[in-house]
Amino acid sequence: MAPAQAVGGGPNNNENGTTNTSILHTYDSMVAELTTQDAKQSALDLEVIGQSVKGRDLYLAKYISDPSNPTILFLTQQHGNEQLTTEGTLEVIKHLGSGRMKDVLKDINILVVPMLNPDGAMGDVNFSLDDYIASGDRHLTRYNANNVDINRDHVAKTQPEIQALHNNVLSAFNIDYMIDLHHQGTRSAINGELVSGSILYPTTTDVSEEVREGSKRLGSIVYQNVDSTGWGRLGKYVGGTANTIARNGIAAEYGISTLLFEMRGMSDHYNEDYVLGQKSNGYLRQQTILTLESTIKAVADGSVETADTSFWDTLPEQSTLLGEEADE
Ligand SMILES: [Zn+2]
Repeated sequence: MAPAQAVGGGPNNNENGTTNTSILHTYDSMVAELTTQDAKQSALDLEVIGQSVKGRDLYLAKYISDPSNPTILFLTQQHGNEQLTTEGTLEVIKHLGSGRMKDVLKDINILVVPMLNPDGAMGDVNFSLDDYIASGDRHLTRYNANNVDINRDHVAKTQPEIQALHNNVLSAFNIDYMIDLHHQGTRSAINGELVSGSILYPTTTDVSEEVREGSKRLGSIVYQNVDSTGWGRLGKYVGGTANTIARNGIAAEYGISTLLFEMRGMSDHYNEDYVLGQKSNGYLRQQTILTLESTIKAVADGSVETADTSFWDTLPEQSTLLGEEADE
């Protein structure tokens, strides 16, 4: 567990922290881990849903115990430089094979798409990353190999990573809930205090109130579990209404109750205000694990159905302590 003094305030890269990308999973080591877990866990099926621009296989880790169960999808790393969400998600996949989490699997179907943008995560792209600042074996970038922000492609669906997700996951399963995991900059705050992350439901006008309420209930589970830890502090993300973004577009197109979770700090960037020192990795990885495991339990035992959404009415919208643009 992370030290209590970590509360949203780990060192930035440009303060006393450093960021070395070599401590992160590579695409290949992630695939090796998924393959190992697939061999160990009878409940887990590993499926290839398509290929990236550079030809890397894109994976779906699938736990389907009963098609009539409620189904939740976790999506990570549409933006290649936002990797701690994937690191935490790999831990959760390991836990699903252990006694700690195994019992829930009979009551829920779980779909995980980790590292949807592996070319960006590996810095294997058709543009220069020379001005990116993290040290280590590789740079990581937001964009895919074609220099496209794939989290703006959920309507046009021009990119192979987005086509794989829509054709072979979103259209192929009856999904009730989805959490789209990201990292934002390092300086977002509520009440003058840095946040460990911020959350938001779909804000497009193209979703039913029922779908939006489901998102708010899912957010309630995340808020209750993360904000109570002592090291987590969550704000309300300020995001747009365009359906090109997963949070909106996927809710509108498929009637899935989506939640955006933007965690603090990125693994690499050309702007040093966005990059968080790796001393913060522990609590941010833990925040991912807690988010996934608490929502898995709440969907499996049905408690998500009655979660109190009133906190959204008072949750402060985040602002930025220094000049910095929003991410999503
Ligand atoms: Zn992002």
